[in-house]
Amino acid sequence: MVIQTKIKGRAYGEYIALYGKKAINLATLVKEAGMEILPRSFLKEMIRFVKRNSLITIYGKDSKNICCMYCLKAHLLRTAHESNLDNQARAIFTFLKCSEGHRGYYIDKKNLIKIGD
Ligand SMILES: [Zn+2]
Repeated sequence: MVIQTKIKGRAYGEYIALYGKKAINLATLVKEAGMEILPRSFLKEMIRFVKRNSLITIYGKDSKNICCMYCLKAHLLRTAHESNLDNQARAIFTFLKCSEGHRGYYIDKKNLIKIGD
């Protein structure tokens, strides 16, 4: 299967999530967690989440957007559930060995979202 590595001309590798002292770029995540099977809309939403919740943004030729993995994981769980993709998305949550959100909540833009609501 061909891995979709670009969305609108931007590579997944430019989007990075941090957890603890670890960082993972989304190209690695998509590949290693077997996310190629997920719909493009789901992958696009993942990119959009990192972009709108970028904690560190590096501009220029090697631009990077870096977000919190705990929040990203919580958001992906919610998005998968809302899109009836729980089974297809399970591999991501097994792959990402961090908790989802922070004590039952995650942040999206300036909103504090309760997990499970
Ligand atoms: Zn977070």
